[in-house]
Amino acid sequence: MLNIVLFGPPGAGKGTQSERLINKYGLVHLSTGDIFRSNIKGQTDLGNLAKSYMDQGKLVPDSVTIDLLRAEVLKHDSAKGFIFDGFPRTNAQAKALDVFLKSMGASITVMLSLDVEDEELKKRLLKRAEVSGRADDADPKIIDNRIAVYHKETAPVKSFYDLQDKLISIKGMGSVNEITERLFVSIDAL
Ligand code: AMP
Repeated sequence: MLNIVLFGPPGAGKGTQSERLINKYGLVHLSTGDIFRSNIKGQTDLGNLAKSYMDQGKLVPDSVTIDLLRAEVLKHDSAKGFIFDGFPRTNAQAKALDVFLKSMGASITVMLSLDVEDEELKKRLLKRAEVSGRADDADPKIIDNRIAVYHKETAPVKSFYDLQDKLISIKGMGSVNEITERLFVSIDAL
């Protein structure tokens, strides 16, 4: 299996790049943010709970997010591999993912981490708000909170994979095509 954690701050381009990677490598794309948003649309209990955190730019609690991710992986039992987009976002999630994959005889192959400067992220998210309709993209205060949460709670997850020699940092500045090319080069060299 080829299991990729596509990592980076909000607005780094994880969703856009994931679409390109799944086409080339035949992987299943799992975005916890997308799953939460579809639950919000469907007005499920999970959606209502997730919304109360997402609207403030906070992380949805680990227990809820980990259970959700496990259930999604199990839905795709014949997958060649996965791209995890927006998960894991805490060390507890990373540990739970390792344990879970191990129980299936699998593991994370690599973490590809997109590096983008904070000022560029803010610009991208405000621009994305014009088309995404996402409330958490449109409000500069919520954007600041999401970026702060990224630095405090999520960025440390890089060390988790670095200690396993699985971290590759990718420059996330430049055109979408340039970044895709960098990702392809890194994956093809695995
Ligand atoms: P995203 O679409 O990845 O930008 O995620 C949007 C929002 O969903 C985040 O700001 C969080 O509130 C929530 N979320 C998505 N993935 C996770 C996760 N792995 N852990 C906790 N909260 C998450």
